[in-house]
Amino acid sequence: MSYDQNNIFAKILRGEIPCKKVYEDDHVLAFDDIHPQRKVHTLIIPKSAYTDMSIMGDDAKDAEIVALIRAVPKVAEAKGVKESGYRIIINCGVHGGQEVPHLHLHLLGGETVGRMTA
Ligand code: 5GP
Repeated sequence: MSYDQNNIFAKILRGEIPCKKVYEDDHVLAFDDIHPQRKVHTLIIPKSAYTDMSIMGDDAKDAEIVALIRAVPKVAEAKGVKESGYRIIINCGVHGGQEVPHLHLHLLGGETVGRMTA
């Protein structure tokens, strides 16, 4: 699937739509989800145009993958859930329930997240 430059996260990255920024570095932006599913719900996205996890696996530079993973504990700390715990979810494609076609990690916490799948 080719990357849709008009997806909502591409617009956030270009500064066309505001976001509540939690963390940023050269490769990654993290911001709070607009419809939080738990008390803490932050999205962590690569700045490069990767549609989903599969595309990233093929194309991503190692530094981008490392930065994405390293951002997780930084975001957890910034949101105050590093000690209490959290869940990372990556939805991929139709069966994964992915709605926004720009790779993103959901970080959920601040309360018990619940069962892994409904
Ligand atoms: P997905 O279902 O693709 O894994 O998750 C997409 C997430 O993006 C959803 O949790 C949804 O609430 C969030 N979202 C959709 N549009 C916006 C937006 O404009 N701003 C922010 N901050 N989050 C959004």
